[in-house]
Amino acid sequence: MNLSKEIEECNRSFQCRRCGDCCGPSHMSEKEQEMIIQYLKEHGIEKRQFKSLLDKCPYFENNSCVIYPVRPLVCRLMGITDLMPCPKGNNPDRKIPLDTALRAIEENY
Ligand code: SF4
Ligand code: SF4
Repeated sequence: MNLSKEIEECNRSFQCRRCGDCCGPSHMSEKEQEMIIQYLKEHGIEKRQFKSLLDKCPYFENNSCVIYPVRPLVCRLMGITDLMPCPKGNNPDRKIPLDTALRAIEENY
């Protein structure tokens, strides 16, 4: 199974309550930024800026992520690897192994 599919499956088994507590400024690769800009254009959503490092992510709105299908890798991994545990203590049935998560991050950025 490729990594994207594995992440998707782990996310499906993860009871994220979408509280947004982990949605601070997210690091994005250039490719991810391009995908997000494209998604924003296609969905008529305005581009938003982080005002400060203490701000909540500007794409978190009404208890959900408005760019969810194209959210960055760090957001996809949140809560499904021991590297980035959910701050609310929620766990998936299956996790992405630590070394796989680290490799994915290394390759992405
Ligand atoms: S991963 Fe945890 S902290 Fe983040 S939105 Fe989901 S429940 Fe909230
Ligand atoms: S892009 Fe979406 S999932 Fe990631 S921090 Fe922002 S609102 Fe949260």
